[in-house]
Amino acid sequence: PKPAYLFVDNGKAELRDATRLWGKSTYETEDTLESEHGGAKVISIGPAGEKLSLISCIITQRGSAAGRSGLGAVMGSKKLKAVAVRGEGKVPVADIAAVEKLRKEYLSIINQAPARNGLHNFGTCSHTDASAHSGDSPVKNWGGVGVVELPDVSGLSKEIFNANVTNRHGCWHCPVACRGSLKEGVGEYKYPAGTKRVEYETAAAFGAMCLNNNAEAIIMASHICNYYGIDTISAGTVIAFAMELYEHGIITKKDTGDIDLKWGNYKAMVAMTEKLARREGLGDVLADGVKKAAERIGKGAGEFAVHIGGQELGLHDPKGDFPGFAGQPTSAKNMMDAAPGRHTGGFGPSHFGWLAINAAGLCLHINTMVDGTKYAADFLAAVTGWQRSVGEILKCGERIENIRHLFNLREGDNPLERKVHGRITGQPPQTEGPLAGVTADLLEQVYWNLGALDWDRVTAKPSRKKLLELGLNDIAEELWPPQINKA
Ligand code: SF4
Repeated sequence: PKPAYLFVDNGKAELRDATRLWGKSTYETEDTLESEHGGAKVISIGPAGEKLSLISCIITQRGSAAGRSGLGAVMGSKKLKAVAVRGEGKVPVADIAAVEKLRKEYLSIINQAPARNGLHNFGTCSHTDASAHSGDSPVKNWGGVGVVELPDVSGLSKEIFNANVTNRHGCWHCPVACRGSLKEGVGEYKYPAGTKRVEYETAAAFGAMCLNNNAEAIIMASHICNYYGIDTISAGTVIAFAMELYEHGIITKKDTGDIDLKWGNYKAMVAMTEKLARREGLGDVLADGVKKAAERIGKGAGEFAVHIGGQELGLHDPKGDFPGFAGQPTSAKNMMDAAPGRHTGGFGPSHFGWLAINAAGLCLHINTMVDGTKYAADFLAAVTGWQRSVGEILKCGERIENIRHLFNLREGDNPLERKVHGRITGQPPQTEGPLAGVTADLLEQVYWNLGALDWDRVTAKPSRKKLLELGLNDIAEELWPPQINKA
């Protein structure tokens, strides 16, 4: 098929020819369609998605990404370059007075929340330096210790990441406005004006993971990823993986195209990011993530490929017990989540609320400042007229968790059979630094959660009783046909 984009204009949808946009960056695509369809909002893929990179993503506003799981390649495989939406309709609201009242109440809570100002002023990258040393960030392709191998993190401070910020903004009408845009790069890297301030995950992927202390290089790598439409978590991780292969002589300058891919060589990191985004040379080998790259390279490269089910992990080390993760079975989450490694994924009852909040289109940052599930229930009732208790909202989250999981099971992916790299769980444990001696008890977490979810401990199948309780009767019939209907 010919490349196309989907234009939705006041509810009328039409596929239009996108041949002239094919090969263009996400920035150019968005600018072109916005100017052609005044007032339209645009999501698009870049050349990485067109070339079916399994770590490609969908971008809007030059840096907001549907980043994980290779969604760019899904659009690319359908030759769908972009979606542009324009509309003047009003959102119907069931009880406008109730919405106004709730808005005032929650605004007051959010504006007083301790996290609010930090997020507004410095963004999520504010703790990049601290995380590199606390054990929160994985270091050196998950195999290093920040305080030992990256002792100087002064280049990763919130002041440095924010030095070039020109304006702070956010999602529509958000009182936090946690994003920032930068002035044009005038130093070693000439990224364009409007490049987005990096988020924590990007900073950790191209920072501690690559033993890099140069923020400008991280901003440039992030800009390249946004421009070509690549997920920064996976891109930084696959570059760190390649650096480790280079250290061990599994790849050499012959493979890298003369790039000296040593740990901490930020110039090499940026150069390889561009190759990866364009699928050139070794970049073509790396462009589908660490699992595929290890299979292509061979020579024992798989030993250094840290992923779960083929996806690179979000950059909070599950061995730690960090704010926001306290009490949560995070390493089990990484393994058992239907899209493993998603920063916002979940596994087990402690994540039902997160899943429901995600599905409601609400923000997980705001969720940390208010009672998120109640917030979702309150606004759902006021906006739609559906009265749902907090318990019912959590039940929605449980239903979502089951449906995501059931999709994977149907496709033959039993998460209990996924291999988890020892560096993720600490097997063997690190011998120095904040995580010295720590091994996450993955099995205990997994089995506890399987019991709580009422999923089988071998097949991972949800019980018939659970499926019926969640109203998933059709799936219950399919999964437990009458002759084996014993649960
Ligand atoms: S809704 Fe969330 S992500 Fe968006 S600007 Fe507000 S705090 Fe940031």
